Amino acid sequence: MTGTERPIRARWATPAARLVAVVTAVALVGASLPAHAQRGGGPAVIRDAEIEQLLKEYTQPLLRTAGLSQQNIQVVIINDRSFNAFVADGRRIFVNGGALMDSETPNQIIGVLSHETGHIAGGHLARLREALSAATTQSIIAMILGVGAMVAAGSTGAANSGLGQAGAAAIAGPTQAIQNTMFGYMRQQEEQADRAGVKFLTATGQSPKGMYETFKRLADQTLYQNRYASPYLQSHPLPSERVAALEGIARSSPYWDHKDSPALQARHDLMRAKLYGFLERPDAVARRYPARDTSLAARYARAIAAYRYSDPRAAAASIDALIQAQPENPYFYELKGQAMLEAGKPAEAIGPLRHAVQLAPNPTLIQIMLGQALVATRDRAHVDEAISILQAAITRESESPDAYSQLAMAYGFKNDLARADLASAQAAYLRGDIKTAREIATRAKMRFPVGSPGWVKADDLASLKPPQSARRN
Ligand SMILES: [Zn+2]
Repeated sequence: MTGTERPIRARWATPAARLVAVVTAVALVGASLPAHAQRGGGPAVIRDAEIEQLLKEYTQPLLRTAGLSQQNIQVVIINDRSFNAFVADGRRIFVNGGALMDSETPNQIIGVLSHETGHIAGGHLARLREALSAATTQSIIAMILGVGAMVAAGSTGAANSGLGQAGAAAIAGPTQAIQNTMFGYMRQQEEQADRAGVKFLTATGQSPKGMYETFKRLADQTLYQNRYASPYLQSHPLPSERVAALEGIARSSPYWDHKDSPALQARHDLMRAKLYGFLERPDAVARRYPARDTSLAARYARAIAAYRYSDPRAAAASIDALIQAQPENPYFYELKGQAMLEAGKPAEAIGPLRHAVQLAPNPTLIQIMLGQALVATRDRAHVDEAISILQAAITRESESPDAYSQLAMAYGFKNDLARADLASAQAAYLRGDIKTAREIATRAKMRFPVGSPGWVKADDLASLKPPQSARRN
């Protein structure tokens, strides 16, 4: 889990952290929301090194075989318990945490991702792109995250997109109606995406059974509980003829009975356990993963729930046991580090986090947390290391307000007030607080020598356009 002031617990459980996560979402979409709008809360994006890595491994072979590997398509995980997955702009596949939690096997969610890849490969986004050209970035974010109300509630402004009247009009309508228009595929496109999805699975030696199982399950749900049907069905209509057609194509695959490898299933189980541990209440975790279940996944979920809801120090023992069971698993060390950090013991977080960074294939988010732990020790000896780690992390995660906030604190300790202000301004900008970003950047500008690189950056931020009113009644 990436670090914020109060990492995982904050990020996933408290309203304060929802804010941070919403901002992360905004940063990902490439624009910014005004600070006051963030109070609306709502679903947010989940950033997690372990889950992102696994989803990357799920999608990359499909994208490669679909001829899309050059487009650097990312999977964005939305903090929402319902089952949903969709593509919006051909650059990102959005998937709800709920879809991951509801998928019992890797193959089931890989099937859904393969279907979504089919939509991208089939160019089904033309109508969507046309609709998006008239909407502002904010309204797209609002629609994607279902937080239309918060944007409509006040003025909006983006540094780089400008807010047009069309956007204001677009967000005035019911979010659901817009979503249906924008994300609703035509039946013919659904069948194409099914066929393409099965083709990609076959080309990568994977079974289409999980895709069929998932769509069959969702279709059956609609028959019995129409009102509570998954949002997935609103964008991907699933009439029974489509399910029948899919079954026909899928069963003809030579890989129909092919199973996920036990190693992949184990990682999938850990991912689901992590999501349960972080997203569900402890009683729900205890029901799903009762004490008699001694699997690694169950112990993971219980350790996370214990860490979030009881004494993090007590949870440390269960995390140590996980580490003992899998000494090469980077994410158990990451959890240990985070538990220590949150217990107010940053010095004890450093060792485990260093270990996690060494072991993880893509450790950037963990590096940001390590930087946070180093800064939190308030030990001057750690400050220079924190700065170099955070700067390196920012080259890969350029839109992380957390990394900039930690960097600002590190420079503050060094009494380098120019760089501290510049980093604070960058953090405010990435959080969508343009007003604060301008104010701090203006101050930073006066601290740098005129024309120096820091001065130029501060000047850019100081001259951001102030938020304009979006109201048009
Ligand atoms: Zn579809």
